[in-house]
Amino acid sequence: MALPQKVRIVEVGPRDGLQNEKLVLGTDDKFHYISLLQGAGLQTIEVTSFVKPPAIPQMRDAVELFTMVKEGLGLNKTNFPCLVPNMYGYEKAKDLGVKEIALFSATSDSFTKKNVNASVDETFERMEEVAQAAKKDGIRMRGYISTAFGCPYEGKIEVSKLISVAERFLKLGVYEVSVGDTIGVAVPGQVRNTLKDFLKSVPLEKTAMHFHDTRGMAITNILISLEAGVSVYDSSSGGIGGCPYAKGATGNVATEDVWYLMQSLGIETGVDIKKLAEASAFILGKFQRQTESKFLKAYQSTGKV
Ligand code: MG
Repeated sequence: MALPQKVRIVEVGPRDGLQNEKLVLGTDDKFHYISLLQGAGLQTIEVTSFVKPPAIPQMRDAVELFTMVKEGLGLNKTNFPCLVPNMYGYEKAKDLGVKEIALFSATSDSFTKKNVNASVDETFERMEEVAQAAKKDGIRMRGYISTAFGCPYEGKIEVSKLISVAERFLKLGVYEVSVGDTIGVAVPGQVRNTLKDFLKSVPLEKTAMHFHDTRGMAITNILISLEAGVSVYDSSSGGIGGCPYAKGATGNVATEDVWYLMQSLGIETGVDIKKLAEASAFILGKFQRQTESKFLKAYQSTGKV
């Protein structure tokens, strides 16, 4: 299959990236980061998560932050989805005028039990109510599937299990499922074989991939996914983020690395690398941290692509 000419990057830095950081940033800083990301040309930026306080300290300013984004950046030019775990979060999101929500589950009960204290079945029961309301209110939904390629507790995951979770999401009415390698264990052969089966059941245009670079395979896995035709990729600027329930699961693949791969293949992203690197420098500076992205490191030191 010919590679896509254009991809959509779903920037998850402000939510997935910041979520597990112990240092809680000020709302102004988060807003500034999001505005820099928007300025870099990212079309979809996940803003926050409407969890019940005090579940995730970093997300306790969700209402305030989304209000700033809505008023300061507007909701028309950029897609600003928010994670919604339950009806509590849904009501908050709806009241604020959120246009797209992200729902989440996983392929394994052990993972969802640790993560949200519910089995996979129970997560879908909870989401059913949210999905019904969202459909009625005209709010778009996207579904995250965690541990798609492997679970920290159950090991390797059968493709049939992954497909059945994806199908349940489609039944809920999501426009897209994001297939997440939460603990960064996916390898290219596995991704190729998985997608071969997966895309027989899930439409290509409803498929997105979410890789973590824990073992250095994220970009290779994205190339394999491109070859299968997938044209939507989740990533975080500077590669920030991890997973609190998965030991050693370092960051999301860096948006800069995704950009570099796409640029090398002549695939359009709409992203301005100089501005993106500035957004990453800002957020990494807040945590006084170096990026995990090899491309970004080289770019920072040479100023050249
Ligand atoms: Mg992630």
